[in-house]
Amino acid sequence: MFTTESYRVWAQYEESYAQMAGLLSRFKNGSGEPESDSPVLSEQKFGRAHLLQSLENSDLGWFWASDAEGRIQYISEPAVRRIGRPASDIVGRPMTEVFLPVEGSEDSGGERPLKFQLAKRNSIKPTTVRLDRGEGAGESWWEIAGVPQTDAGGKFSGYHGIVRDVSESFKHQRDAEKMSRYDSLTGLSNRHRMSSQLEATLTAFKASKRSCAIMLIDLDRFKQVNDTMGHPAGDELLKQVAGRLARVLGEGVEIGRIGGDEFEVIMPDVDDRGTLGDLAMRVIQMVSQPYSINGMRAVIGCSVGVAVAPFDGIESDELVKAADLALYSAKGGGRGQFRFYSNELRDKASYRHQIEADLRDAISRDELEMHYQPILDVNRHEVVCVEALMRWNHSERGMISPADFIPVAEEVGIIRELGAWALLRVCETIREWPGDIRAAVNVSAVQFSSEDFVDVVRRALKTSGVNPARVELEITESVFVGDMERAFRVFNELKELGVKLALDDFGTGYSSLGYLRDAPFDKIKIDQSFVRGCASPDNRNDAIISAVVSLASALGMETVAEGVETKDELRAVTDRGVSHVEGMLFARALPQLEIEERLATGELKFVPKGPEKYRSDRRTEFRKIGLIHGDDRYNVFLRNLSRTGAKIEGLLDVPVGTDIVLDLGGGQLAVATVRRSEGFSQGVEFETPLISDGADGLCTRHRVSPYQIEAAGRPLRSLNDEAVAALTGAMRSSTKYFVEVDITSTRRD
Ligand code: C2E
Ligand code: CA
Ligand code: CA
Repeated sequence: MFTTESYRVWAQYEESYAQMAGLLSRFKNGSGEPESDSPVLSEQKFGRAHLLQSLENSDLGWFWASDAEGRIQYISEPAVRRIGRPASDIVGRPMTEVFLPVEGSEDSGGERPLKFQLAKRNSIKPTTVRLDRGEGAGESWWEIAGVPQTDAGGKFSGYHGIVRDVSESFKHQRDAEKMSRYDSLTGLSNRHRMSSQLEATLTAFKASKRSCAIMLIDLDRFKQVNDTMGHPAGDELLKQVAGRLARVLGEGVEIGRIGGDEFEVIMPDVDDRGTLGDLAMRVIQMVSQPYSINGMRAVIGCSVGVAVAPFDGIESDELVKAADLALYSAKGGGRGQFRFYSNELRDKASYRHQIEADLRDAISRDELEMHYQPILDVNRHEVVCVEALMRWNHSERGMISPADFIPVAEEVGIIRELGAWALLRVCETIREWPGDIRAAVNVSAVQFSSEDFVDVVRRALKTSGVNPARVELEITESVFVGDMERAFRVFNELKELGVKLALDDFGTGYSSLGYLRDAPFDKIKIDQSFVRGCASPDNRNDAIISAVVSLASALGMETVAEGVETKDELRAVTDRGVSHVEGMLFARALPQLEIEERLATGELKFVPKGPEKYRSDRRTEFRKIGLIHGDDRYNVFLRNLSRTGAKIEGLLDVPVGTDIVLDLGGGQLAVATVRRSEGFSQGVEFETPLISDGADGLCTRHRVSPYQIEAAGRPLRSLNDEAVAALTGAMRSSTKYFVEVDITSTRRD
């Protein structure tokens, strides 16, 4: 009898179809009938016929045979039943009509299609096929294997083989594969697939010198939706975002979700930054439309970073890094914006990197110090308080602005250390100061949100022994976006310690007047952006200042106008009733020794020293660029840039009507014509207007391609300015047509 044990033995054989096919070939005797005189299987109850019949009736596998033309001649009865068609429908039909190729198998590599193997008349290696079943019979996949047969004359006569049903494992594997390449939530490609697609596209495009753009899209405020409406709502939102992206971006692009709320788009053959900018804006607009989720409304936004191969990167990791930097910059620019990658971003990033690396050691190397900027009583012009501002004297780079390193410190988490250090240092310093002059210490929102913040303040007060009433903490409005309940608790705990609280940079962020009414602030600092230009007649800032002042005085708070630079600004804020002023008009932040000298001599009064009026033209662009004329390349200064033209300085007497090319950097060559010319200054008009770079800047639609630079004999790499300069200055002649003048000495500012 065929025992369970024997079955198990068979099942093991069944593991390997190659082995089974081999076994089968040993059974055969030309006619396909099992031989009867095999020494191994000759015993009665394991007679071959009996054994094979048992096997046929099991579901482990079935037999089939074909003729030399590939038509099915025999197939086990249970297999016929499984196919679900009458045997007459199957026998006589070509193998390839019954056993169809698996969809998508062309690109799956590995297996050769059955058709191909049959034609070769070699052994058929185990191959997965799809069954041609009747209507509504459901899908089924089998694995087929076989060995070629020859007739007595040694001529090919067809195949003998085996099949087995592998539907379950096939479906399982297919789903797993799909899961490994697609995002199950949105159905978009996942990170894995996106990176292999990008890799493949760029490799192919390098050979054919084609361009390819990528867009990284990061949702703003998604976390809030997730936190407040729940994860299922978050999931639904992501699905809707995916749908909108697909609609805006249309055909011919690959969209993927590469992280929680981060999407990537691969756009082959796109390099026009005008088109890309428009598309990015449309994506931002579409994603920012309100969503309806289970009857509830949700609003999010998004930021977009764009990079284009081969200009911004040639390899996929370079390109992704470039787009990532652009995205980072878009987010830093205030969200809901897009940015193109530029070399400037790269330089900024590496500078930041350097700062980050050195910042960790700044305290231990004793490179930090505190400077003190006087805050004056608005009428007497006497210092009543100083704002402590951190200064970093870097051993190699010199002074680094806190505007540069404080954000980095916040991001990498060193701000708590810096903040605690500053607090203690200031408390210890002012303890010795005569009179009752106060000092204000800036508190970053990140520092404020740390659990032990109140303890840090308590410790600094205790260690230094300073009178807490002389210490002010400047807190920015951004603490109001977080956990309000905690913020108010901390405010009150700080007040209990006896320190004063000032609201810094008022008007720049999230202030709600409601918060202001309830929070125990002693002082409001009106941000310098409101002070700037508040004296000019067409400016509404003075009305805002008036409103803040009246609110503050109603609540019994002091007001400080920050960043007062000119006499007319001082007059304006004084007239509006602010109680205190701070700014360069009186004094910049002074080193500890300097301020202490003044305090020691009792010179508390400061005299306004500075311009009468604010001049808005003081910050016009003044950047060195290249100018190409004929075979020559010149250095000129860009004085002014608009969409349609530029003002340049540095070449003497260029005639009106001269055609030139401006090299604006990063491969951006703009063809232009001189329209006005006066001494070393020219006004030029661009042939094609510039476009927005997503920030405040402008850029060219197209750039010179690295392939052109490669053609000029340079190795292929993404654009940098030396490469372009080398290309455009390649044919420099010995005498130049125009005279270059050094205008740096005539520079006005
Ligand atoms: P802030 O708190 O708004 O500080 C005022 C900034 O305005 C200071 O820049 C100050 O030097 C500058 N300023 C003062 N008067 C004028 C003026 O008349 N015109 C102009 N244009 N600017 C003026 P600074 O020292 O570069 O600091 C920049 C920012 O860095 C500060 O802005 C503050 O947010 C942060 N910061 C500085 N020191 C610290 C610190 O110790 N801890 C923390 N957490 N942040 C600090
Ligand atoms: Ca401040
Ligand atoms: Ca401020």
